[in-house]
Amino acid sequence: MLDQAKRWLDQARSVAVLTGAGISAESGIPTFRSAGGLWKQFRPEELATPQAFARDPLLVWEWYQWRRALISRAEPNAGHLALAALERRKEIFTLITQNVDGLHDRAGSKQILKIHGDIWTLRCTACPKEWRDLRPVFPALPPKCECGAMARPGVVWFGESLPARVWEEAERAAASAEVFLVAGTSAVVYPAAGLVPLAKSAGAKVIELNTEETPASAIADAALRGRSAEILPMLISSE
Ligand code: NAD
Ligand code: ZN
Repeated sequence: MLDQAKRWLDQARSVAVLTGAGISAESGIPTFRSAGGLWKQFRPEELATPQAFARDPLLVWEWYQWRRALISRAEPNAGHLALAALERRKEIFTLITQNVDGLHDRAGSKQILKIHGDIWTLRCTACPKEWRDLRPVFPALPPKCECGAMARPGVVWFGESLPARVWEEAERAAASAEVFLVAGTSAVVYPAAGLVPLAKSAGAKVIELNTEETPASAIADAALRGRSAEILPMLISSE
């Protein structure tokens, strides 16, 4: 199965990849669904929502600050690096990620569609301002905009819509790829998960990589089981 998948990937001129939290798990960043994803007994679904932020912005910011600190100590792993190497080899390549951690950027990937935003971006809750802030710990919480209003993390929360332009590009990439590789995502968070059937029905060979079976496994042409930091370098090696 791995050999067949590797051949499809080698031969394709255009490739699109969808990644999820699993690809950063081996960098020490917990996924939302793992036990390590629990923070002070809160489930991410109770914190990563506009309602939670409206109710208790300080609590939500404390969680984001904890995650930012964790991510700032993490390094991209061999899976992130393999995807950056694949991009350098392909004529047409798009990396679509649900991750907000910025590890794909740090691994050297260039064409990244961050459909769920970026934890290192902040946005004003009152004015249109949006900016980067790389400090893992803020001098005071919640952080503020220059205009004095409270800032929020520049990520897409459960129940919010995806950035329209970025999402359109993701759909276009999925619909035109010869090979669509899905790695480390539970494939249950929509609309992101819908990219898999979209790519498939547009004629792509779908390769899935996950430690467990997911809803994407059933429609994958090759469903590979294993850890992404181990399997991706094998799948993408040039010999
Ligand atoms: P998820 O937590 O729902 O699923 C993670 C998937 O990765 C699971 O299917 C699991 O079996 C698999 N997995 C775990 N370890 C793996 C490994 N070493 N190799 C391969 N697969 C492995 O994550 P999701 O599908 O990305 O969706 C959850 C949402 O949470 C996303 O919207 C994302 O924005 C957000 N999130 C982001 C981060 C991050 O940026 N690193 C971390 C947690 C959650
Ligand atoms: Zn402002």
